[in-house]
Amino acid sequence: MTALQWSVRERASALEKAEREGVDLLIIGGGITGAGILRDAASRGLSALVVERGDFASGTSGRSTKLIHGGLRYIAQGQLGMTRESCQERDLLFRLNPHLVRPIPFVWPVYENSKTPLWQVRAALFAYWGLASFRSSARYQMLGPERVADFSKDLRRDGLRGAGFFHDCQVDDARLVLETLASARRLGGEAVNHAEVFEFLRGDEGRIVGVRVRDKENGESRAIRAEVVVNAAGPAVERVRGLDRPVARPELRPAKGVHLVIPRCRVHCESAIVLEARDGRHLSLIPWDEVALIGTTDSFTDQIDEPLVSIEEVHYMLSTANDAFPHLALTTNDIRSAFAGVRPLVADADDESPSNSVSREHKIYDDPSGLISVTGGKLTTYRTMAEGVVKQALDRLPEERRAAAGPSLTGNLPLREDEFEVAELEADLQARYGLAAHRVAHLVRTHGLDAEELLREAEPELLRPIGESRYTYAEIPWCLRTECAVTLCDLLEHRMRLALFAIGQGLPELEEITRTAAAAAGWDSDRAREEASS
Ligand code: FAD
Repeated sequence: MTALQWSVRERASALEKAEREGVDLLIIGGGITGAGILRDAASRGLSALVVERGDFASGTSGRSTKLIHGGLRYIAQGQLGMTRESCQERDLLFRLNPHLVRPIPFVWPVYENSKTPLWQVRAALFAYWGLASFRSSARYQMLGPERVADFSKDLRRDGLRGAGFFHDCQVDDARLVLETLASARRLGGEAVNHAEVFEFLRGDEGRIVGVRVRDKENGESRAIRAEVVVNAAGPAVERVRGLDRPVARPELRPAKGVHLVIPRCRVHCESAIVLEARDGRHLSLIPWDEVALIGTTDSFTDQIDEPLVSIEEVHYMLSTANDAFPHLALTTNDIRSAFAGVRPLVADADDESPSNSVSREHKIYDDPSGLISVTGGKLTTYRTMAEGVVKQALDRLPEERRAAAGPSLTGNLPLREDEFEVAELEADLQARYGLAAHRVAHLVRTHGLDAEELLREAEPELLRPIGESRYTYAEIPWCLRTECAVTLCDLLEHRMRLALFAIGQGLPELEEITRTAAAAAGWDSDRAREEASS
């Protein structure tokens, strides 16, 4: 099976076709919510298109904690229904997509003066297990203080009473978006990045019958007619609703969460570790290949487009980590990168902090103009959320289109349908191409069976690693040809996550990366220079 082409050429054809023929569903926003809705709609046989103003996953969906989890802390808030659904979705996503979604153990240490005593941790973990239907894979354990050091020798020992031990899953969030979109395309859907919706098309009585989109590649605007328009613009959902009519009473209270990325070698961690900050909030240290993430803060914000990381937030997380790992003395010099994301939360104006009681449940708005907007939710529950939105959109379709739509198939359909033995494929690729084991593991985890085609098609000189990272130059032409990377930033930030995790964030190799991308994409020297400097 050869990989489906998805380059700037297919991107341009998708826009032209949508303008010519119109679609059943036009979805605004290429984060996980929009990607999930596209896939659900395409699986029912509807014609659907996502338009994204930046790159796919460039919003919140590429800046999360990267957990596919039930949400243990939501139990304390009494959000049991959401935790149960999240546990079910976590287990389903893992079962269908084991190449992408990986289990990760968590240790929750408890000290003499911890806000949550050991018995409460035990009770919470028992409830968490129950909400996962008491499956053996979700079983928890309580660890004595002496066993905790097996998971982190650096963790503070004095006053340690024990720890809870449980499992959740982790995922590369941007890859989850890309694989969801790729799967939707195989089902007949289409997605276009760098295309911003700036106006609605109106029909009788002011009903919305489509959108006007600006193609940022060439500055052209296109009118795309749609039976139903769905607004999945994340933190910008109210701004997009505002293009329809003024939002009388804003309900969205965006909340910012910051993460720090440090080299894994700075802290011994065989599992993720729950950290208690001095204000009683819980943060985590989460291992991720050669780095570890520390996060997250949680505060209401107005910065919905480019949220900034403040020095106070950096110090808050470093001091929490230093309290937990007292011998490390982490400083700002240890930070490889930092990133901030914005949760599109639905909250009351008098909620003081998003951490305490604000629900992560999603909300769907069905406006009189026909615009359907969706906000809130989690990465973990994107599939069920998408199913709900498409069900609602079906009611707005003309009778004959509604009758032709089938049931959603996403509950049984893996994102990739290629079947292979991971260990066998990795051994084969290692033997044939002489790449280091961790680089082959990365290629297989990221591209599945396509890793074989990616390497087979690569020029031999591109089978080199990019600096000391897991990535190889061969991924650059591949992502331009099959993953709709349009700019160098798309490559560095969301296809290969060099900007987040690599030493120097890919900058030491920028010249070589740009040269490789320019050759593959056919950029002239002006375009290459522009890309490298943006
Ligand atoms: P986004 O990803 O923001 O997508 C919306 C898109 O719409 C954007 O890409 C934007 O560019 C686009 N857009 C806006 N306006 C327009 C327009 N006019 N035209 C075209 N496109 C437009 N959930 C979990 O399950 N697990 C976690 O570990 C987790 N951690 C989190 C950590 C943090 C710090 C945060 C902030 C959230 C976390 N979440 C987590 C929640 C999860 O990340 C979000 O619920 C989810 O990513 C929201 O996705 P979205 O598609 O709705 O929004």
